[in-house]
Amino acid sequence: MSDKLIKALAYNDEIRVYVVDATEMVKEAQRRHDSWNTATAALGRAMIGSTLLASGEKGDSKLTVRIDGNGPIGYIVVDSNAKGDTKGYIHNPQVSLELNENGKLDVRGAVGTEGNLIVTKDIGMKEPFVGQVPLISGELGEDFTYYLANSEQIPSAVGLSVLVNPDETVRTAGGFMIQVLPGASEKTLVSLEKTIANLPLVSDLMDSGKTPEDLLEMLADEGNPRIIDEQPVQFKCDCSKERFANSLVSLGEDDLKEMIEQDHGAEAVCHFCRTKYTFTEDELKEILSEIQELNK
Ligand code: ZN
Repeated sequence: MSDKLIKALAYNDEIRVYVVDATEMVKEAQRRHDSWNTATAALGRAMIGSTLLASGEKGDSKLTVRIDGNGPIGYIVVDSNAKGDTKGYIHNPQVSLELNENGKLDVRGAVGTEGNLIVTKDIGMKEPFVGQVPLISGELGEDFTYYLANSEQIPSAVGLSVLVNPDETVRTAGGFMIQVLPGASEKTLVSLEKTIANLPLVSDLMDSGKTPEDLLEMLADEGNPRIIDEQPVQFKCDCSKERFANSLVSLGEDDLKEMIEQDHGAEAVCHFCRTKYTFTEDELKEILSEIQELNK
């Protein structure tokens, strides 16, 4: 089954609801980073949150979410675009903590409670939009909610969850983002709050076989949700050997000569997808002559 994100309006179009099944996406991230359970949950939640944020943007828009906490995983960087492609990096993937008091993966303990959530959006304008909020929870769902309310002035609710198997593989991963549109009635807000407060974790619901459409019905129970769009989402990295060759060009002559004469080659690994690119001595010599040509 491939991952899917659905967008809907509900409660007489007073709220916007996004629901995503990101199981395959987070599975792929765990596999590539060889991450352990608590780190996987933190990275996965950040990727789901970033995917949801980006899905609200248009066309060629893309954004980067950086979570800089003081916990043992270090920082997380996630890139997502409006087409549903997401890639993620976690500084220390091998973190596994004791379960928290609710018997769940201790994402707060892994992320930390002090630090920032920073969103950089490229929406095709000259300058990117940058929004930053302090971490208020470390569980990340609440942090994304706080970001939307404070940086984008959108009253929202974000739920993010990842279920990890005992063998470290990902069982389910998903989330939702609800945005309250201007003019929503008090009655709608009260009803919505009650629904969200009583909603089990999305990953648990998915584990029991619920689809994004089922979740949508649960989130907008009395409101007859109206699906307006649906798109696939996936783990996708845009790195290439050419890109790494370009970064070798920016290193300069001396460093390249050293790689040629001492190492007889070079190896580069993409932080986001762990793909390894090797450059032979001859390839490096070619890059060197390009630089020398440029510097003439
Ligand atoms: Zn890559």
